[in-house]
Amino acid sequence: MATEKIQPPEVIFTQIFINNEFVNSVSGKTFPTINPVTGDKICDVQEGDKADVDVAVKAARAAFKLGSPWRSLDASARGSLLYKLSELFLRDAEYMAKLETLDNGKPYKSSFSSVNGAAKVLRYYAGFADKIHGKTIPVDGPFFCYTRHEPVGVCGQIIPWNYPISLLTWKIGPALACGCTCVVKPAEQTPLTALYVAKLIKEAGFPPGVVNIIPGYGPTAGAAISEHMDIDKIAFTGSTEVGRLIQEASGKSNLKRVSLELGGKSPLIVLTDADIDFAVDIGHDGLFANMGQICCAASRIFVHEDIYDDYVKKSVARAKRRTIGDPYDPKTESGPQISQEQFDKIMELIDSGKKDGAKLECGGGRFGDKGYFVQSTVFSDVTDEMRIAKEEIFGPVQQILKFKTIEEAVERANRTTYGLSAGVITKDIDKALSIANKIEAGTVWVNTFTVIPCQGAFGGFKMSGQGRELGEYGLQEYTEIKTVTVKVDGNL
Ligand code: NAP
Ligand code: MG
Repeated sequence: MATEKIQPPEVIFTQIFINNEFVNSVSGKTFPTINPVTGDKICDVQEGDKADVDVAVKAARAAFKLGSPWRSLDASARGSLLYKLSELFLRDAEYMAKLETLDNGKPYKSSFSSVNGAAKVLRYYAGFADKIHGKTIPVDGPFFCYTRHEPVGVCGQIIPWNYPISLLTWKIGPALACGCTCVVKPAEQTPLTALYVAKLIKEAGFPPGVVNIIPGYGPTAGAAISEHMDIDKIAFTGSTEVGRLIQEASGKSNLKRVSLELGGKSPLIVLTDADIDFAVDIGHDGLFANMGQICCAASRIFVHEDIYDDYVKKSVARAKRRTIGDPYDPKTESGPQISQEQFDKIMELIDSGKKDGAKLECGGGRFGDKGYFVQSTVFSDVTDEMRIAKEEIFGPVQQILKFKTIEEAVERANRTTYGLSAGVITKDIDKALSIANKIEAGTVWVNTFTVIPCQGAFGGFKMSGQGRELGEYGLQEYTEIKTVTVKVDGNL
């Protein structure tokens, strides 16, 4: 990768995408998208709301009708379209990464690896398109019985701002492999890359109406999707609070299928035999990557009392070395937080940590004088009942807690309403696997953190969500299983 500074890109697409066309909103309204580095407006984007969602759902429904170009495609041809889309991601990776950085503020190198990871997700699901099949089942009686895995239908997909390109592909990849159609709402803070992907979807050759993208706000466009009577399934990533609203809206409307990927307060347990420098690096990257804006961030680090002081000292030194600044500068490790709202929320939680008696080891304030930058912050002497040990901060704020016995660490790690992910650092494989078995979380990492291969499965126990994304498991969210039973009288 080049070492010189990268220049921000030109924004090309700012309209709503329905039926493979870019159109203005029905209301004529627009909304600004903001550069989090400066707080200045990048551009105005067409603001979709209920009326636009209705038009998009009609398009997606028409595209899903039996006999439509999309439903008439061979499954392998659906795979070829997804494969083509992944190739277009790779072709335009530099532009897309620049655009992601402009809208989201994450370092360019992270955006670039996001685009490549997203292309991989599409390629992975491209291969699955003609391998989604049922079973023949030896039922009792003179019957031939088989199952078909049919596409669930029109899918509403609501995306957050922390990984806009990646999470878009986690949603459309399996949906399209299964033959569904999509109405997608990107986050209000980061609509731009999804609109560029819209252009690539058309270029790849997907028929009109298969993917529709409606930038807009949660309580208007998002709510219209979750309440819609003609959407069959909704997939959501974001806060637990909004996840609950989505499930309620499903219950109050047409009982659409719901999958939710929500927040977390993920524990990382460091045992006495761990190499301290290695464990410090894992804890640091597990929390500070993406400015702490990761649902599975290592936001509660439990360290054994024998190595606690050393671990804290080295974590503070590492946090102080972290480079913060212009996300287009290749030397930058952290850019700004996404918005003023998130900045304020993080500052309020840092204050609560100080008031609750945690020791602020470093950071704790604004970095620089514009935009939404937060200093890399480390708290030690954190105890379980403090808000910073219970609530999702979604910022560069590390909590280090002390434990005496492994049983105690596991019990405290599980004492949370969340269950998205967890980690353990030790050279003792018996202990690692025993802890992995006892942790209540959808993902457990041993001697690593935040590794999410597209072939695995990702999702939460408890209030961290429902259902799984990625891997073969992710396909289950996008099919209905139909049992066909045929009487066979057996006479020749
Ligand atoms: P959020 O409100 O849950 O946003 C996620 C998505 O849901 C956005 O597209 C949002 O639209 C949409 N939405 C909001 N209200 C909705 C509603 N009533 N009906 C349907 N959709 C709706 O999250 P946030 O406010 O951006 O962030 C708040 C907190 O959520 C963060 O501090 C963090 O703790 C957590 N979070 C978690 C993840 C994750 O990966 N699990 C990602 C982001 C945030 P708008 O863009 O208009 O809000
Ligand atoms: Mg919101």
